[in-house]
Amino acid sequence: MSDTHEPHGQGRRPDPGAIAPLGDPRPFLRCRLCWRVTVFVFLSILVVELAILVPSYLRLRQNLLDQLESKGLAVLSASIHGQLASGSGIPIFDFGDAEMIRPLVGLRLYSSAGNLLGSFGEAPRIGLEQLDALDGNRLWRSRNGRYLVLWTEDDLKSPMTAIASIDSSGIGAELTGFVWRILGLTVIVSLFVGGATMAVLMVTVLRPVLLLRRQMLQARQDPRRADQHVLDHRGRHELGEMIDSFNALVRQLATRYRSELDASEQRFQDFARSASDWYWEMDEELRFSYFSERFEAVTGVPPEKLLGKTRQETGIPDVDLEAWQQHLADLAAHRPFRSFIHPRRKADGELVWLSVNGQPYYDGEGRFRGYRGTGANVTRLKQVEDDLRVSRDRAEVANRAKSEFLANMSHEIRTPMTAVIGMAELLLESPLSDRQRDKVETIIGSGEGLLVIINDILDLSRLEAGKLEIRPRDIGLHSLLHGVVELMADKARAKGLELSIDLPEGLPERVHADGARIRQVLINLVGNAIKFTERGGVRIRASLGTRTAGLVGLRFSVEDSGSGISQDDLQRLFEKFEQGDSATNRHYGGSGLGLAISKQLVELMDGEIGADSALGQGSTFWFTLPLREARSGLSEPAAPQARHFGAARALKILLAEDNAVNQTLFSSLLGGLGHELTLAHNGREAVEAAGEQSYDVILMDVRMPVVDGLEATRLIRQAEGPNQTAPIIAVTADAMVDNEQEFLDSGMDAIATKPIRLAQLLEAIDGALGEPVHSAADAEIADSGAARPGAAEASAADHGDARTLLDRLQDLDRKLG
Ligand code: ADP
Repeated sequence: MSDTHEPHGQGRRPDPGAIAPLGDPRPFLRCRLCWRVTVFVFLSILVVELAILVPSYLRLRQNLLDQLESKGLAVLSASIHGQLASGSGIPIFDFGDAEMIRPLVGLRLYSSAGNLLGSFGEAPRIGLEQLDALDGNRLWRSRNGRYLVLWTEDDLKSPMTAIASIDSSGIGAELTGFVWRILGLTVIVSLFVGGATMAVLMVTVLRPVLLLRRQMLQARQDPRRADQHVLDHRGRHELGEMIDSFNALVRQLATRYRSELDASEQRFQDFARSASDWYWEMDEELRFSYFSERFEAVTGVPPEKLLGKTRQETGIPDVDLEAWQQHLADLAAHRPFRSFIHPRRKADGELVWLSVNGQPYYDGEGRFRGYRGTGANVTRLKQVEDDLRVSRDRAEVANRAKSEFLANMSHEIRTPMTAVIGMAELLLESPLSDRQRDKVETIIGSGEGLLVIINDILDLSRLEAGKLEIRPRDIGLHSLLHGVVELMADKARAKGLELSIDLPEGLPERVHADGARIRQVLINLVGNAIKFTERGGVRIRASLGTRTAGLVGLRFSVEDSGSGISQDDLQRLFEKFEQGDSATNRHYGGSGLGLAISKQLVELMDGEIGADSALGQGSTFWFTLPLREARSGLSEPAAPQARHFGAARALKILLAEDNAVNQTLFSSLLGGLGHELTLAHNGREAVEAAGEQSYDVILMDVRMPVVDGLEATRLIRQAEGPNQTAPIIAVTADAMVDNEQEFLDSGMDAIATKPIRLAQLLEAIDGALGEPVHSAADAEIADSGAARPGAAEASAADHGDARTLLDRLQDLDRKLG
C-alpha cells in the first residue's frame, strides 16, 4: 500500500476545505460513531479504575486498623510496665503525642488483685489543665500535647493489668477523604483518556471517513468524473487500504462510464444524423434551446427562427385550435405529450406538417429543467391521410350509389322478371305441345334462378347499406319450421331425398323473433343441403340451449348426407361470392351469396352461424339464436290460408300504373271483385283523371314516367278537385323504401308493397276507406298434396285467369323469399 496517491491526471484534487478544520469539534459532536467510541472508552476506564479502587480501599482500611491496634498495644504495654519519664519523684507514664493515644478509649489499669488502679477519660477530656485536681494518687495531666499519668510507687510495685478499647471512627473520615480523592483522580484520568481517544479518532478515523463519505457522494452524483474524487492519504492501516480500494473503484467506474457515455453519445450522434426525425430541447421557461441538425434538413425551417422563443411566440399558422390548447395545457402542466401535429411555414413559404413528442426532464433535486423530444415531418402522411379521407368519402358515396343502383336494378329487373315468369306460367295453362311445354318450363326455371340471384344481391346491398332491419314479433316457431319443410319438400322429393324434421320436447311454441329472416336462413341452408346431396336425406333439427334472463338459446341445424366440404373451404364459405370446389359448383351453379347473407342475418339477430363437415361425409350447417318466448297468445299466421274474398260494394278505383303486366293484374283482380277501375299510365294522367271525377280510392304507383307518384299525389292534394281528400294508397316495388314518412308527407294514406299480396292490398284499401268493404272466408286448399304455404290466396275457379296469374306470382314471390 502506498502512502500517497496522485489524483487522477485531469481531475481536481478533492476540496479539503469542505471538511471541518482539525480543531473544529462540530463534526465530532455530530458523529454518532465517535460519541459511542468515546463514551465506551470513558466508561471502560471508569470501570477499570473502580475495579482497582475497591480492593485498595479495603486494603488501606485494614492497614489503618492494624496500625491502630499496634498503637493501642504499645500504650497498653507501656501502661502495664510503666516508664519513669522524669526525675520529679512522681512516676510519669509518657504516652507520646495526642495522636498516639487519641483512638484509645476507656483505658483502665487494674492491679493483679483486680482493683482499678486508674483510667483515662476520653482523649479530648484529658486535654484539660487538671494539674491541681488531684484525686488520690491518680492524676491527669496534659502539657504541650503530651499526656501523663501519675501513680504512687506502691501502685507500681504490684503487678498490673490494662484494658482499653480502640476508637476507629477517625479511620472512616480518613478513608472517605481517600475515596473522594481517588474518584476525582479517576474521572480526570477517564476524561483525559476519552478526550485523547476522541482526538485520535478525529484525526485518524473520523476525518478520513467523512472525506470518504463526501467523495463517495460526489462520485455517485457525477460518475463521469468519479476519478476526480480519488483521496490522498498517508494511512498505513485498514482505512488506508479502504481508501486505496475506493480510489481504484472510482477510477474504474469513471473509465467505464466515460466509455459507455462516449458510445451512447456516438450512437445518439449517428441516430441524429441518419434519422428522419430531429431532436429538440426547451429550457425551464419553455423556450426552444436546441435543435439537432436534422431539423432544418427535414423541415426546411431554419432553427434560428425558433431558438429562444416559446411555442406561442413562434406562431403556428392554421393550427387546430383544440389540439393547440391541449398542447399549451400539457406544457404548462409539464406533462409529456405525443403527436402534437401542427403546420409550419418553410423559408420559401411552403407549408409543412410536423408531429412532435415531448417529455419533461428534471435535475437531481427534482427541479423541472425543461422539455426534450423528437419531431417528424408528416407532410406526406398528412397528404395521404387527407387523400384517404377524400377517397373514403368518395367510396362511401360510391357505395351508396352502388347500393341504390343495385336496388334500382333489382327493382327494374324484378318487375319484368315477375311478368316473364307469370306470363310463362299462364302460357303453361294453355294447350301446348310437349316441346313447347318444355321450353316454357325452361323459361320458368331460368327466371326463378335469376330472381334468386337478384334477391340475394338486393339483400346484400341492403345489409351493406345497413338498411336491413330485424323486425321481431310474436311468431309460431313450430309452424315456421314445418312451413320450411313443406316449402322445400317438393325439391327434396324431386331428387329422391328424404326431408325430415326433429323438434325436441319443450321447444317453445311461440317466440318473439323476426320469423321472415329465420325462415330465409333456414330455406337457404336447406336449399343448399338439397342442392349438394345426391342420395340419402336432409334433416332439420332444433335444440334447446341455456335459458338466461328470459332468453332461450336455440340451435337450428341442417344435416345432409351430401358431398361434404373440405376444411379449407369451410373457412371461407361464409364470405361473399365464395364457393366450394369449383367443379361441383359448375355443376350446381349458384352465386356464393346465400351463406354470406345468412351469416349477416344471424349476426344481426345476435346469433352465431357455422358448419361442420368433411369431404364425402355430409355437412351440418347450424346457427344459434338467443330468443325470447312470446308473451302474447297471438302469433302471425305461419302460412297463409287459401281464402275467398268478396266485396260488400263496388268501388270506383283510379289505378295509376305504367307497367302493363301490373295493369292487367290489378284489372283482373279488382275487376273480379266487382270494382270499377280507371287506368292512368303515368302521374300526369292520374292528376288529370283525379280532376275529372271522384274516386273511392286511388292506387298510385310510385315510380312512373312524366310525373312520379309522390308528385302526382301532392298535386291531387293541392288541387281543389273532387279527390282532394280521397284515400291514396302507394303501390310500390321500391325495395329500398326506408323512409315511409316521405310517402306519407306527400299526402298518401297507406303503402302496399309489390309484389302485391291480395289480402294485404284489400286490407290497405279497407284501412284507407275506414270501412270493411272486403271480407274473406277460409277455404280448403284444393291441391293439398302440394302442401305449399300460400299456394293460393283465392281459388282459380272463382276469379279466372287473372286470379291464377296472381296466385302464381305470389307463390313465386314467396318461394323466392
Ligand atoms: P351458392 O350455393 O349460391 O353457391 P352459398 O353461399 O349458399 O352460395 O354457398 C356457398 C358454397 O358453399 C356453395 O357454393 C357450396 O360450395 C358450399 N356449400 C354450401 N352448403 C353446402 C352443403 N350442404 N354441402 C356441400 N357444400 C355446401
